Amino acid sequence: MKWVFIAALSLWYVRPVLGLENILTAYTVLQGNAALVQFPAIKQLSDIAQVTFNGKPMSAFSYRGVPSVLIGIDLNQKPGAYVLVTKLKNKEQITQGITVQERVKPQETLGIPQKLGGNTRSAQSAFINSLASENAALAKLRTGAKTFWSAPFAYPLANATVTDPFGYIRQTGSYQIAHKGTDFRAPEGTPVFAMNRGVVRLARNFRVYGKTIVVDHGLGVMTLFMHLSKINVNVGELVEQGQIIGLAGESGYAEAPHLHMSVRINGVSVDPIAFLKLFAK
Ligand SMILES: [Zn+2]
Repeated sequence: MKWVFIAALSLWYVRPVLGLENILTAYTVLQGNAALVQFPAIKQLSDIAQVTFNGKPMSAFSYRGVPSVLIGIDLNQKPGAYVLVTKLKNKEQITQGITVQERVKPQETLGIPQKLGGNTRSAQSAFINSLASENAALAKLRTGAKTFWSAPFAYPLANATVTDPFGYIRQTGSYQIAHKGTDFRAPEGTPVFAMNRGVVRLARNFRVYGKTIVVDHGLGVMTLFMHLSKINVNVGELVEQGQIIGLAGESGYAEAPHLHMSVRINGVSVDPIAFLKLFAK
């Protein structure tokens, strides 16, 4: 059995020597941003045998008729050079270099609201425990095996004014928590729209995140909406882009009404504004 495996492996290594490997110029992505890599040279999605980023398998999809891959770079991904390797069924190989650049992460002190116990040690540890169980509930959500969307992603509000950006570090007591989403100005009751077509995977009230909706867009891409005053959708429901899924509020760990929105790619939270800009072309 062993020699068969080695023979199969050597095929991949020998082929590039024959001139079938295309190495594309590297491009730069900031820590915490997403990359949308498109391969116009590949005729169709079904020509692709396998895609890996940093050795991990990725799912390719068709966006505007072009085979594409969305990669989420973690806020703490070590800066440096990485490769996205696309193997085609005809044994050709495309290597796209991706350079991860360090993001400046400002720090800010943030207390615990009185409604969650204020700034006491016991309120801090209760807060951290709730956060861990809520994050565990979010981490185990399943995703569709194909993309549910085809249109570019759109903002979740009619008037999208950012009040708190993605990526800064909040110091709460002795804990450091990265802000892994974007906060938008949104008075209580402001309609929140689905950013693209997708399936609702979570619609419930959390102690810290408040009333929360997670929309799965397939292949590990999810949009999350927190601190809502009202949830208009149910788990399993297919939502269309622009559909009102809920109303903004200040439920959970929020001092004032606003919309917290996060984007996750295979569990990695990315900067929602940078993510939206990928589709603005
Ligand atoms: Zn937030």
